[in-house]
Amino acid sequence: MIRTIPVLLLAAILQQCTNSQSSSLKNNSINMDNKQKEHSPAKEGSDQSKKGNLIYSTTDTSKVNISEEEWKKLLPKDVYYIARQKGTERPWTSQFENFHERGTYYCAACGNPLFQSDTKFESGCGWPSFYKPISETSIINTPDHSHGMIRTEVQCGRCKAHLGHVFNDGPPPTGLRYCINGVILDFEKAKDIEKKYTEEGKIKKDN
Ligand SMILES: [Zn+2]
Repeated sequence: MIRTIPVLLLAAILQQCTNSQSSSLKNNSINMDNKQKEHSPAKEGSDQSKKGNLIYSTTDTSKVNISEEEWKKLLPKDVYYIARQKGTERPWTSQFENFHERGTYYCAACGNPLFQSDTKFESGCGWPSFYKPISETSIINTPDHSHGMIRTEVQCGRCKAHLGHVFNDGPPPTGLRYCINGVILDFEKAKDIEKKYTEEGKIKKDN
């Protein structure tokens, strides 16, 4: 009888631990679900990021150089976390991860055109992946030695927002894999883009 009491006590304690653990896990997953709902659909989030964001422009190529305080006011929390604090979204959470529409991806912080949909590919890494940026100036590559790794960080060429990283295991013709946080991407369908490009072409010809 004396022996069984500690055993029973231990069993009761273990049981409690397991219960509290699973309930905290449950809470976490609920929180995450809520967070995901805030993000998706990503288009709503993108629209929010444009509201009151005076530097947002898909045509202005002038560099953006504003204080962190100003960024904080301009960007929604999730975009600020990725863009300015070099955050990383959880893998498989971006609606662009499995997204095949034709069009252009812009920086969600400043509107700078970054990638075309025809350079997007299925990398299986959990984040939207591209093998080539729109132009050499649309992004900036910076060495990143954080987290004990040697990587190349990819930043927006206009506002220096953190976008993600580039790796050497991409498909031809570049062999590169630009692994990008979906939160920092705005997407516009091809039809609108074609129209815009034609208009821009016209302006250039007239000049
Ligand atoms: Zn930008």
